[in-house]
Amino acid sequence: MLHAERQLQRRNTLRLRSRAAALSVIDSPADLERALAEARQSGLPVLPLGEGSNVVLAEELAAHVLLLRLRGCRWLDRRGLLRVAAGESWHPLVAWTVACGWRGLENLALIPGTVGAAPVQNIGAYGRELAPFVHAVHAVRIADGEPVSLSRAACRFGYRDSIFKHALRDRVVITAVDLQLSRDLPLEVSYPGLRDRLPAAIEAITPQAVFDAVVALRRGKLPDPLREPNAGSFFKNPVVSLEQAEDLQAACPGLPVFEAGEGRRKLAAGWLIEQAGWKGIEREGIAVHPRHALVLVNRGGDSAARVLALAAAIAESVRARFGVELEIEPRCYGSGP
Ligand SMILES: Cc1cc2nc3c(=O)[nH]c(=O)nc-3n(C[C@H](O)[C@H](O)[C@H](O)COP(=O)(O)OP(=O)(O)OC[C@H]3O[C@@H](n4cnc5c(N)ncnc54)[C@H](O)[C@@H]3O)c2cc1C
Repeated sequence: MLHAERQLQRRNTLRLRSRAAALSVIDSPADLERALAEARQSGLPVLPLGEGSNVVLAEELAAHVLLLRLRGCRWLDRRGLLRVAAGESWHPLVAWTVACGWRGLENLALIPGTVGAAPVQNIGAYGRELAPFVHAVHAVRIADGEPVSLSRAACRFGYRDSIFKHALRDRVVITAVDLQLSRDLPLEVSYPGLRDRLPAAIEAITPQAVFDAVVALRRGKLPDPLREPNAGSFFKNPVVSLEQAEDLQAACPGLPVFEAGEGRRKLAAGWLIEQAGWKGIEREGIAVHPRHALVLVNRGGDSAARVLALAAAIAESVRARFGVELEIEPRCYGSGP
C-alpha cells in the first residue's frame, strides 16, 4: 500500500538522510501489482528496496520506492530445491538451511539484506558466491507487470555482478529465488583465516562448524551497521591484467593478489586504500573505518553527497598512487547516472 511515511533514513544501513517521492510497502503480489500501476501513472521510476544495506541514497529521491516484504519459503522437491520469497532476510535463511543439514550457503552467513537482493550483486564471501546455488530467479517486469523467470545461466552472474545490473537494471522486481542446496557438497574452507578456526581433521568439519566460524570471523572483523552505520565494502576489489598485477607486486611487496580467471588478477582494494593513507581518516562526518579500510562509516555526516565526495577522493588517490581504478560497490541513487 502507498505509505504516508516517505523517510528512508531508518531504511538504509548507512543511515543517510533520504526522502522518496513515493513509497509502497509490498506485502503481497497484489500490493506489487497496485504499486507498479501507480508508478506507471505517476511516471516515477521504480526503486525496489530490501534492507538498504547496499545503497547510497540521495537526500531527495525522485522515485517510487517499493519496500519488498514478500515472505515465505517452501520446498519444491525432496532434493534441496527451495523457493524463497524476495522479502525474507538472508542470514536467518542461511541459519535455517544449515540447521536442517543442507549444504551450500554456510560461507554466506551474516551477510545483511534480503533474498531478493542477493542475486543482484551475486553476494559472496569466504570463498563462495551465491551463483552456483541459484536454480532460478522469479521477477515481475516493471513496464507491464508481467512475470518472468530466469535460469541461473540467464542471470549471467559474475564477480558482484549479474544481468540485474545490466540488461535488466531498473527493469524488474525480483519476487522469489529458487535455491538448489545439497546434502553432500564438499565444504569450502580454503579462505585465509577460516581453516584455522575449524577442526584439524577435514572429515570432522560440518556445515554448522563452517557457519559458526564465518559468523565469528565476521563479528570480529566487520563493524555492525546498527552501531556504526555502513554499507559493507564500499569498493569492489579491482580486477586487472596479469601483467599489471605483476608490475604492482614488484613495486609494492605485500600487495595481496588473487586469481580472477585466465590472465586476470584481483587486487585487495582495502590494502590499496590503507597504503594510500586513508585508514581512520574522517571528513565531514564520514570516516574510513579505522580497522577496515574498505568500509566507510557515517558518523553524523548523514548525506550521500558527503559519502560520495570522500569515496571520490579515495579513488583519486589510489589511481594516482597505483594506476588502479576503484569501482563503488553499492548502487548510488539520485546522485548522477
Ligand atoms: C556490514 C555489511 C557487510 C556486507 N557484507 C557483504 C559480503 O560479505 N558480501 C556481499 O556480497 N555483500 C555484502 N554486503 C552488501 C549487502 O549485504 C548485499 O549486497 C545484500 O544482498 C543487499 O541486500 P539488501 O536487501 O539490503 O539490498 P538493498 O540495499 O535494499 O538493494 C541493493 C540493490 O538491489 C536492488 N534490489 C533489492 N531488492 C530487489 C528486488 N527484490 N528486486 C530487484 N532489485 C532489488 C536495489 O534496487 C538496489 O539496487 C554487506 C553489507 C553490509 C552493510
